[in-house]
Amino acid sequence: MALRTLDSLGSLAGKRVIVRVDFNVPLKDGVITDDGRVRAALPTLNHLINQGARVIACSHLGRPDGAPDAKFSLAPVAQRLSELLGKPVAFARDTVGESAQDAVAALEDGDVAVIENLRFNPGETAKDDAQRRAFAEELAQLGDVLVSDGFGVVHRKQASVYDLAEILPSAAGYLIEKEVDVLDRLTENPERPYAVVLGGSKVSDKLGVIAHLLPRADKILVGGGMLFTFLAAQGFPVGKSLLESDQIETVRGYMEAAKERGVELILPVDAVMAESFGPDAAHVVAPADALEETAFGADGLGLDIGPETAKLFADAIRSSRTVFWNGPMGVFEMPAFAEGTRVVAKALTDVEGLSVVGGGDSAAAVRQLGFADSDFGHISTGGGASLEFLEGKKLPGLEVLGWSA
Ligand code: ADP
Ligand code: MG
Repeated sequence: MALRTLDSLGSLAGKRVIVRVDFNVPLKDGVITDDGRVRAALPTLNHLINQGARVIACSHLGRPDGAPDAKFSLAPVAQRLSELLGKPVAFARDTVGESAQDAVAALEDGDVAVIENLRFNPGETAKDDAQRRAFAEELAQLGDVLVSDGFGVVHRKQASVYDLAEILPSAAGYLIEKEVDVLDRLTENPERPYAVVLGGSKVSDKLGVIAHLLPRADKILVGGGMLFTFLAAQGFPVGKSLLESDQIETVRGYMEAAKERGVELILPVDAVMAESFGPDAAHVVAPADALEETAFGADGLGLDIGPETAKLFADAIRSSRTVFWNGPMGVFEMPAFAEGTRVVAKALTDVEGLSVVGGGDSAAAVRQLGFADSDFGHISTGGGASLEFLEGKKLPGLEVLGWSA
């Protein structure tokens, strides 16, 4: 079944429209370090403003403990949103209390208010259905309809994501619509060849995606911290590199399955081995089957794919028509170990077809390395949500909007 989209709500002029966005931006000392998620909400917000709706934006930020906590206030985000929209944005000091009610009552057509962090209320994330529902009922008092556009939280059964969408007339905003459209193209009839590039820190985080995409992809490329579990599965020693010994058997199973299905599993042929974990650590390139034969011996740790691997990966990516990439190839936060990630990102920008970057750290990596969002077909705003979508799981925040995979 299809997602209910904005048009299904009819004219929204003069209506109080609650927009559930994902303003969960990274903050450092109260300053937003990456406003990508605020920008991602702009198409929907601008559309509603132009229609003359009275817009009430709500979001979570961080993980406050169900109570107000100044360091997780959405105030800096409301300020940034005002700059990006080029118009005043009212800010309510609470979520469903007097301040929120006053802010909503003061809205005129085309105005915008942001209410305080949803997670300052224990009901938002409550496991207890009744408690969650009660908070959603309070939220529902603020608006006439709900536009759900926080893709990053659609895998969560939370009050503003799920219950509120049941209580009020609701539909997906443009961001969710686009995310679903793109991710669906990665699971249903992708244009071939289709390459899936996986990295990041832990194999165990990505097992579901590997299992679901393995039968669908033509090539699977493995880098990042998880590559060492794949090398260990082949019997190669990996020194002090990230290794999940309890996943070796599972990984062997994937290697078998790939062989049986004729899926090309492309594993690293070399890696950058470092003396220690730090930006200035001494490091050398070693072949995949001789990682412990460097000056650092069995104490070395692998912090990036090597140059041969990067080239192999780049060729496999460029010759594909659909590419999904999740997880940095190395510890990109340190420039000495960012080269593999940079080469892979560059290759994705050359793909003729659909290239998709998913995952919070992967999105941060491409921006940090100087790529523009427009260099890629799509950068998913949802880490966990996009992975669960690609695992074929049912996502409560999408199902409630009419979607079924
Ligand atoms: P995403 O958020 O894109 O899904 P992950 O959260 O799975 O990605 O992984 C990101 C992290 O993986 C980064 O912080 C990066 O430093 C780390 N990482 C990548 N390669 C390695 C490695 N070889 N050793 C340790 N950590 C690594
Ligand atoms: Mg991450």
